[in-house]
Amino acid sequence: MKLRLQFRRYRASFRTAVRTAHGMWAEREGLLVRLENEAGAVGYGEAAPIPWFGTETVEEAEAGARVLGEWTTAEQIAAVPARLGCLKNALAAAVSEVGRVCDPPSDAASAKGRVTDPPYLGVAALLPAGRAALAQIEPRAELGFRVFKWKVGVGDAADELGLLDDVCAALPSGAKLRLDANGAWDRRTAERWLERCAERPVEFVEQPSFADAAQSDAARRKADDCLLGLAGDFPTPIALDESVVGAGDIARWIGAGWPGVFVIKPSLIAEVGAAIAALEKAKARVVFSSALETAVGARTALRVAFAWKGEPRALGFGVWPLFADARFDGPMAMPFLRAEDVARLNPEAVWTALS
Ligand code: MG
Repeated sequence: MKLRLQFRRYRASFRTAVRTAHGMWAEREGLLVRLENEAGAVGYGEAAPIPWFGTETVEEAEAGARVLGEWTTAEQIAAVPARLGCLKNALAAAVSEVGRVCDPPSDAASAKGRVTDPPYLGVAALLPAGRAALAQIEPRAELGFRVFKWKVGVGDAADELGLLDDVCAALPSGAKLRLDANGAWDRRTAERWLERCAERPVEFVEQPSFADAAQSDAARRKADDCLLGLAGDFPTPIALDESVVGAGDIARWIGAGWPGVFVIKPSLIAEVGAAIAALEKAKARVVFSSALETAVGARTALRVAFAWKGEPRALGFGVWPLFADARFDGPMAMPFLRAEDVARLNPEAVWTALS
């Protein structure tokens, strides 16, 4: 079947610049795609690349969409090169939505879906780095948050470690703390933290160390060995985030018998269905996380999270309000996200906002 392809580049300022390992990130750039078949069924998708995570750039995604032309087919879309993972993700989401409109699930299938998909999932509250985290815990606990994520690896490691007990003491009873170092630590620093985490309510330590794609193969192998070593030496689970961008990374870590958690940003994975099936088969522990995409990509990514058949864990989607222009935002950060909130997201409104 022929599909009409349209795409629109967007550039959306964050309300507050986001701190990354590569400096401050002030605005999100991406590409929305819209497919329509000859019967008028429409589907949307979003390519939201993060090039320093190892994805394509938005220019490359746009060039890939241009190559397909105004009229394309599902076969041509499936043949988009694997290196354009975010574009493939966007197009696959749009194709699947066109298919859903044409061939809605039967009553029996949707009734079954209601039984197996959870009606809501918990969301982790994001805490700022350093001492600023302390003042943020109580108001969020009062809203009902019970999972908190604290950015570490930003300031001096010893100063931050000195705050860990204060942060833990401020948590409501039964709450869990996630630490995200974004790959900032060397092995010795990571060991000091993991020793301290053992007796504390730390759900996991995310990406203690990392060697990015710009480093040598030897450096990257060493970083992978370091993560496997830390996972074997300490009781607190370690989560991989920067280490798992594409389906190839997921397969490699499953193959290595990774015992920890996988942080999955569904927006960055070309063939997300196959990747999720591999994780389910491996009985992996998975946390679904935002790639700071707009409501269009968030809708696709959150559908993946709600369809996960493994143990549910608090979502890393407590990021909105995120954009200066609220029309781009996904569902507001609340302790729980309901499947209905995801169903209510309106990709057409974001598309129209860009016209
Ligand atoms: Mg992370």
